[in-house]
Order: sequence, then C-alpha cells, then structure tokens
Amino acid sequence: MKIAGIMAGASHYVRAAARGGMGAVLGSKNLKAIVVRGTQRPQYADKNAFRAEVKSQNADIKVHAAGLAELGTAGGAETAEWYGDMPLKNWSAGSWDGVKKVTGSVLYDAFKTRDTFCFACPIGCGKEVEVPDGKYQTPRGEGVEYETVSGFGGMAQVDDVAAVTLASSLCNRFGLDTISTSSAIAFAMEAFEKGIISRADTGGLDLTFGNADAMLAMIEKIAFRQDAGDALADGVRAAAHRWGNGAEAFAIHVKGMEIPYHDPRAFISMAVNYATANRGACHLESLSYWNGYGVPLPELGYTEPVPPHESTPAQAKLAVDYQDYMGAFNPLGLCKFIVKGHAQPRDVVALVNHALGWQWTSEELMATGARLFRLKRRINLRYGISAADDTLPVRLLTEPRPDGHAAGTLPQLDALLVEYYRLRGWDTNGTPTD
Ligand code: SF4
Repeated sequence: MKIAGIMAGASHYVRAAARGGMGAVLGSKNLKAIVVRGTQRPQYADKNAFRAEVKSQNADIKVHAAGLAELGTAGGAETAEWYGDMPLKNWSAGSWDGVKKVTGSVLYDAFKTRDTFCFACPIGCGKEVEVPDGKYQTPRGEGVEYETVSGFGGMAQVDDVAAVTLASSLCNRFGLDTISTSSAIAFAMEAFEKGIISRADTGGLDLTFGNADAMLAMIEKIAFRQDAGDALADGVRAAAHRWGNGAEAFAIHVKGMEIPYHDPRAFISMAVNYATANRGACHLESLSYWNGYGVPLPELGYTEPVPPHESTPAQAKLAVDYQDYMGAFNPLGLCKFIVKGHAQPRDVVALVNHALGWQWTSEELMATGARLFRLKRRINLRYGISAADDTLPVRLLTEPRPDGHAAGTLPQLDALLVEYYRLRGWDTNGTPTD
C-alpha cells in the first residue's frame, strides 16, 4: 500500500519513517527488513571539544524541551486544539472538548510503562505504553504521538483514549503511517456520512465520526485491502478519484500526501510550506508553526511569533527560513526536537565542526539547506510536478474554521507564493533559475 512506512527499532521500541510511502518502495522490492550491527566507534576530529559542546548544549535543551520529556509530543494536544492547530472532523470543525480525554497527560497517566530515548538523546520524548486490559487491550509498545492523537482522536472524533492507543499500536504493527491512515479513515467517515460510500463498501461497518470500533476495524481493512480499505490503502487522493461523486472536495492532501496535523489556517506560514514542500504536505520540511507556539530562533531574527493569522510577506519568509534550517537536519541525522530545545544554527555548526574538523558557518549551513531544497525541487520538476501543484485543498483555502481561536482565518496563498518564489530567487512559475 502507498501509505506504508518503515518501522525502525527493536523489541517494544519503534520509530517510524512513516511519511511519503517509503515502506511501499521497500515492499515493491520484496524487501522485508534490514538488520544492522555495528562493531566500531565513530571517530571525532576533536573528541574533547565535541563532548564539551554536547554537554553544554544538552543542559539548555533539557530545560527548554522539558515538556517533551514529561509527556512526549502528545502532551501538546490540548494546546494545539486551543490554537486551532489540531484539525478536527476531517478539517471541518473548529473546536473539540474530547481532546481533554485523549491528551498526553491522560494517556500517559493511564498507560505509560516507561520513558524511552533514542541513542544518546538528552530529551527522551518517547513513552512506552500498554493498555493492560479491557476492550481495547494492546501489547506493550511505542507511545502515541501528537499526530496520532490528532488523527485517531480529533480527525475521527474518537475520545476514548484506549481506542486511540490501540489504533496507534495497530498502525505500528502493520507498518502504516498513522497520519495518512487516520486521514484516510476521517475522509472515509465523511464520505460515509455524505452517502458517497455505504455499508456495502465498508463491510457492514457504521463508519460514522466518533465510532471507535468502526475506526479500528477499518485500520485492519486498510492493512489487508478489504472493502473500502482497498482504495484507502493508496491514500485519499486515489480513493477520492475512485469513489468520485464530489469526494475530491474533502480529500485533504498536497501532491498526493495527506496533510499532517498542523492547520495552515492557524499558522499561515504552514500554508506556504505545505504548498511548496517537496514530498507533498510535510510539516517536517519546515516546522515553522513552532514560531507561532513561541519557540525562539533569534539567530534567524525570530525572538517573537510572527502574527500567525495574517497572510503577510513575513509568513513566506518564515517558511523559507525554516525550510532551509530544517533542510540541514535530515542529512546530518539530527533530531529536530533540539530546535524545541532552542538550538540555533550556530549550535549545529559547532557540533559538525568539532566532529568533522570543518570550519563551517551558520550561513553555509543555511545555504546547504537551501541547496538541498532546490535540488529536490529540480527532481520534482523533472518528474512533471510544477507550480500548478503548489497549492492546498479547496477546503483549506475557502472554508475557515467555524469557531475556536483560529476562526475566520484563511491563507491568501496566491500572494504568499509570489513572495515565496521571489525570496527563493525562482521565476514566477516557481522554477529555480541557474
Ligand atoms: S532523539 Fe528526538 S525523537 Fe528520539 S527520544 Fe530524543 S527527542 Fe525524542
């Protein structure tokens, strides 16, 4: 299926390279697993200086990312709902009381068995969970991230925290991207309520918003390509195309990838980012919504949030700056949560220089991120993706959230893209010049 991810880890500890269908690529090659065993230690250009730098940065990161250490990403669910950042009911609602029942504090009070850390991490945002008994029992496994709470909670309108935990567990065990899977199910719930699909398509399931049992059954149907799950396994764009009857209007994706759970109507820079991100709607290519939450990035000039509801040129610049900064993280193999811990480009550069003996500067790091972004853009253009694909679903351009903190705001995307292409030095068709 096209919404398959790659699961990494061992035993109960799982991290997911979930997005963009990379699991489908491996699956298409009949590649089931890769096992890695290391026997050597990495060499450092200046080990003592590297260690001292890590120690110093870790002290700051631990202070500023303490919330992630305590309750993981799911700890931010209630705040996200308040900001209007969490999408609800397939992006059609503005607020949701149910978030209080599924947010990180409730989830981990009930089901956490221990904290988990990626190798050498100073934060430890991972939470191992187990639902020990009851209707929605799970084996011990990786915790439930913010995106997963938003998808199987807010998007599907399910406020049973055990059911949301089981949904997460099923996706991890089947190797499914929880964002795309929950998005596909919320899309199918709307299609069901609108009469575009019926019980004949769902295998008898009453696939209405809030029906936890139907949601869980549909995850299995997607994994095994049964009934409506066969169409949903290829994502909402493919399912909408197959079902027709107006379903395209509420299939929420960009370039075929389901939009992650940070509403561009709450943080307008994310509208620019989703429209231009190279692998389709991807929050990780920018993460500029963190600016709206007050995460400072003073080295790039961000000490205060850019007013988040206004489609100003500053929003396009925010998207460019974060895309360039984040563009350096993946090739370095660093966790982006150190930015929540207030790591600036100069901090990343210091680590690289001590490790590799380079004389890198912040400007060179940002320029490298920009070059990588542009290279990916070039590859996309070669495969026929163009500025015409730099857009958002109609719902997010024409239907404001009806209530809540972000009520009434919509991104003025055309004007934002003109500014974005100008800042990037691309032509008016969004094509990088020499
Ligand atoms: S490296 Fe990042 S994802 Fe892994 S536990 Fe630490 S903060 Fe979380």
